[in-house]
Amino acid sequence: MKSANPATAPTLTRRELLALVGKVSGGGAMYQAMTTLGFAKESPYQGAVTLEGAPKGQSILVLGAGMAGLVAAYELRKAGYHVQVLDFNQRAGGRAWTLRGGDVFTELGGARQEVKFDPGLYINPGPWRIPHHHHAVLDYAHRLNVPLEPFMMVNYNSYLHSTSAFGGKPQRFKQVTADFQGHVAELLGKVTAQNQLDAGVTKDDQERLLEALRDWGALDKDYRYVKGASSAERRGYDVAPGGGLMPKAVPSQPLALSDLLQSGLWQHITAGADYEYQQAIFQPVGGMDGIAMALYREVKDLVRLNAKVVRIDQSERGVTVDYLPSQGPGPMQQVKADWCVCTIPLSILAQLDIRVQAPMLEAIQSVPYGASVKVGLQFNRRFWEQDERIYGGVTFTNLPIQMVSYPSTGYGHRGKGVLLGGYMFGPHAYEFTAMSPAERVRKAVEYGAQIHPQYHQEFDHGVAVGWHRVPWTLGCYGMWTEESRAKYYPTLCGIDGRIVLAGEHASMIPAWQEGAVLSSLDAIQRLHAKILSTVSSARTSA
Ligand SMILES: Cc1cc2nc3c(=O)[nH]c(=O)nc-3n(C[C@H](O)[C@H](O)[C@H](O)COP(=O)(O)OP(=O)(O)OC[C@H]3O[C@@H](n4cnc5c(N)ncnc54)[C@H](O)[C@@H]3O)c2cc1C
Repeated sequence: MKSANPATAPTLTRRELLALVGKVSGGGAMYQAMTTLGFAKESPYQGAVTLEGAPKGQSILVLGAGMAGLVAAYELRKAGYHVQVLDFNQRAGGRAWTLRGGDVFTELGGARQEVKFDPGLYINPGPWRIPHHHHAVLDYAHRLNVPLEPFMMVNYNSYLHSTSAFGGKPQRFKQVTADFQGHVAELLGKVTAQNQLDAGVTKDDQERLLEALRDWGALDKDYRYVKGASSAERRGYDVAPGGGLMPKAVPSQPLALSDLLQSGLWQHITAGADYEYQQAIFQPVGGMDGIAMALYREVKDLVRLNAKVVRIDQSERGVTVDYLPSQGPGPMQQVKADWCVCTIPLSILAQLDIRVQAPMLEAIQSVPYGASVKVGLQFNRRFWEQDERIYGGVTFTNLPIQMVSYPSTGYGHRGKGVLLGGYMFGPHAYEFTAMSPAERVRKAVEYGAQIHPQYHQEFDHGVAVGWHRVPWTLGCYGMWTEESRAKYYPTLCGIDGRIVLAGEHASMIPAWQEGAVLSSLDAIQRLHAKILSTVSSARTSA
């Protein structure tokens, strides 16, 4: 159906328009459109919290010294409360954890790993990147002077790899992206030129669309995606332009659309388009534990490490917690406080003796934890830079290791280098968790060598963390479903007598530090309000 008058032309609904934008341009354009239409939301963080008027003499016990617990301790002490913190571990930070040379880690089951990375090299077995819209985490980093540097999420020179495509030969990210965009643009251009979009796009807009497609898809003057100057500017050259009398540049040959579609590699080209992965993304200089350590320095005198909480009791008057040394001998000890902020992961809390109302207990016991494994590999040299010109970023593969990520720092360093040799979720994570750490490393090297044959020659040392075997977390993150959120989330986040829970599991941003911090800030503000009203009504009735 044609319509000359834009006012009477059939209009698309907002949902249809977004779907079309998403299909044609990938998630990045979709998000852009969503933002313009007011759908996508930024982090609700409004800046530093101020808890005013803390009643004198009130004490708060914080359980867990990960990001949620450290933020709670830092803010509650500033507000004037007496704060104590207990943590199972021998260090603060929880999942915000960096493994460096000299570190030792014993997982559930007793397997012990000694990290032998060279000085300055590290792997973050847990969090490793901070999106630019994680305002709360970034704000704590800025306020505590933690230096940040860019985390390279998308590197157009890294690889997309499938064992069942292109003879198992890794393809450069830029080539798959350029070719997919080019072919799609050419097809859509043809449809547009044949007036087949008349129903939804006005005549004037069709001309603009054609021009946009030529630009977006690197099409030639005839709107074709072919080997030539335009496509080479995206996907690169067989012989790159040089200087003087060097050989003439030769454009490279695009992959055929059918091969590309069958390869499945296109599924990775929007890696940097998802909300969390859009540049800029950051990492603390020297390791992800940097922000947690800066918070820890502020509250160190309040924190008791090596304290394994085994019982949490409460009455109308206060909270009593029993704990044991998590390592070494020692008697059971007890600590009392007026109130408690508990950030112990649900995977562990569900196994503790805790006095809360039945609905809260049911909520605590109803959130399973996702599996994940990360493998850090040290090599004798940074061959990915020296041989393959890959500086940071991620290679995606259909091998069980799922991805290889190159360090976003130390470019050009001539000594050893550490890369992320595997980051597994789902079934592969369970499979790897069941292996011994040495076997996980061996497998990661074996698989990775299919992408980088240099692995055989250059591999030096590796460590592997399977999160279900991390004794103080027993899993990667709280895995909510729509149904479990509807049924348990409000209860889980409520204040049960004198206890409030916080942590990534009590947030709408699970598996991110931002979720842990926002949950903590929300919990302590509500707890503070409850303390004020409880103390004031006690005074009134006294
Ligand atoms: C593999 C992986 C990748 C991730 N990637 C990212 C990322 O790129 N960016 C990002 O921002 N986030 C990422 N996250 C998520 C992020 O790590 C978490 O959301 C956040 O660190 C959780 O903080 P928390 O304080 O809620 O919990 P935790 O950090 O787990 O803190 C809980 C604390 O409770 C303590 N504890 C446990 N049991 C007991 C007990 N019985 N007694 C006393 N103390 C106890 C633990 O020792 C721990 O210190 C990732 C996580 C994982 C595992």
